Amino acid sequence: MKIISVQTHILDFKLETAFESASARFDRRQHVLVEISCDNGLTGWGECLGPALPNASVVQAYTPMLIGRNPLETEKIWIELYNALRDQGQRGLTVTALSGIDIALWDIKGKQFDVPVSTLLGGRFRESVKAYATGSFRKDGVDRVADITREVACYRKEGFHAVKIKIGFDVEEDLQVIAAVREAIGPDMRLMIDANHGYDALEAIEVGRRAAHYKVDWFEEPVLPELLDAYSEVKARQPIPVAGGETWHGRWGMKDPIEQRRVDILQPDICGTGGFTEGRRIIDLAALHGVRVIPHVWGTAVQIAASLQFMAALPPNPPRPSALEPILEFDRTENPFRQAIVTKPLEHTNGIVHIPNGPGLGIEIDHGALSQWRLKND
Ligand SMILES: [Mg+2]
Repeated sequence: MKIISVQTHILDFKLETAFESASARFDRRQHVLVEISCDNGLTGWGECLGPALPNASVVQAYTPMLIGRNPLETEKIWIELYNALRDQGQRGLTVTALSGIDIALWDIKGKQFDVPVSTLLGGRFRESVKAYATGSFRKDGVDRVADITREVACYRKEGFHAVKIKIGFDVEEDLQVIAAVREAIGPDMRLMIDANHGYDALEAIEVGRRAAHYKVDWFEEPVLPELLDAYSEVKARQPIPVAGGETWHGRWGMKDPIEQRRVDILQPDICGTGGFTEGRRIIDLAALHGVRVIPHVWGTAVQIAASLQFMAALPPNPPRPSALEPILEFDRTENPFRQAIVTKPLEHTNGIVHIPNGPGLGIEIDHGALSQWRLKND
């Protein structure tokens, strides 16, 4: 079996209402998928975390090294591609692009052996996961507190057991939002806060100390991801567990945060941290140092499917496996192509998502939807 083509598909939608986190403004939704085809007719799909156009360019730069290769040689291909851009690309787009390629190769591998990727990873510990709703971004021209409390009340009605809201804008206003959200969701629903590295250490410590009262499960990306000492300071000086990791790519990017226990909860993104090949190593490293893993997810159904396969194979944490089950990040913001590009959407029922058990990622791409949402002039 040989790879005969590598294609990128950039999907694009202009939002009617822009929204923003503390680190990014979204007025379009753009994601890039990677399609790898083989001479025996098998095709694999992957997705890259982050900006679609630059990711597509890096995938195209890797493409000549993939044509004619045996797609089953995932380990060999991974290190060869990484080495090709290593000197200028130890993290960032070089690794996010490599992640999309690696996921597509594992999809092909699963289809070749007619098993889900989770089986190839060693077996499925679970057939479904609880999802948590991610939303509550800031929008222009609306009362932020009223808008977000209305939104989280809907998640509660839909059956989600947990919600993650966006902070990192302004200490006092963020604290008002947190208080109002706790009031709106009641005492039992889990609440997480994500600052998207909008604070400095002192602000983060203040927010953590004052927000702890509202029963917050984790405080995500409190400070800039490069400032690992500041992470440790926030972790030590306020009571909420600290989470992070969506921008730390590859085993070398994860090494210090894991070994030094900079976070209580590590959030590797399978489409950013190096795909399944590297993701497995990061899980082992985290287990070695006793750091809890709850993956980050932000993308289309391809990304969700890859994350579900990865989560199916995450070893439970003995001796109380059920207490530490991983939960799935489920983006609820506007994105009309997120689920439309697969023939069977990966939706939730009462906040529970079943993990597909078909070959590879367990999804079928809807080519009509792909052309409908393709970036014009792509
Ligand atoms: Mg985040």
